[in-house]
Amino acid sequence: MDLEKNLQITAEDNLIEEAYQKYKSLKKLVNEWQELNGASFTEKVELSDKPPYLLVRNFPLDTVLNLWQKLNLHTNIKISDAELIKIWGVAVINENLANTEIDQELLMHLQMTISGLAQLVNEKVNNEDSNNIRKALVNDYREINCPVCGEIPAITALKPPNGNRVIHCLVCNNERNYRRNSCIYCDNSDTKKLMYLNNEIYPGIEVVACKECGQFFKEIDARHLVVDDYTWEDIRTLPLNFAAELWLKENVSHSKKVH
Ligand SMILES: [Zn+2]
Ligand SMILES: [Zn+2]
Repeated sequence: MDLEKNLQITAEDNLIEEAYQKYKSLKKLVNEWQELNGASFTEKVELSDKPPYLLVRNFPLDTVLNLWQKLNLHTNIKISDAELIKIWGVAVINENLANTEIDQELLMHLQMTISGLAQLVNEKVNNEDSNNIRKALVNDYREINCPVCGEIPAITALKPPNGNRVIHCLVCNNERNYRRNSCIYCDNSDTKKLMYLNNEIYPGIEVVACKECGQFFKEIDARHLVVDDYTWEDIRTLPLNFAAELWLKENVSHSKKVH
């Protein structure tokens, strides 16, 4: 029985290790691309006057295709730009094309591409010395969507030394302050309606599930857990998402939204 359990755990560990190696090699390519093309990309890209500064859907498509194809090529996926544009339409612009099944690997490459570009946009926003208004707006911004890329956040972090809480955008890495002990989606601060789920396998990270709005997000205690890649940390701790989904299913009435 124990042996069976151990074998199962080893198999899961191997799968995670395999996924990590794959993720790491793609991430390396994205970093190389950023070093080579980042400066010209940030220079040509135009920011909006107010947040969100550059929605993902408005990213220059030629640049998206360039980086996306680099990742596809690396894993021997041969696909035309025209096909990729169709997928972009479905996945990002929400065009409704019937019978479009998107390959999961292509989708993962697209997510890494978007992230690679969004991080550069975030750096541009943070480096805009000439326009302090931009910085001020980022700090005072009250919407839940990311002020830089417009995506919905899924993770927060408690920063050293005092445990100040920030919302961390997994797409562009933007960080902004948010008060502790409340739900980032509905601002509920009734602690009786917030459930913190954790597991000893994942020290320093919890899922906060909110009974009020039926949604959940992860919280990393960065005072104790040093994380250099939030995206990987989010993928690695996927079982916590399942636990949160289960808890919400059992504790929230069906009329409330569960994502
Ligand atoms: Zn963002
Ligand atoms: Zn909530």
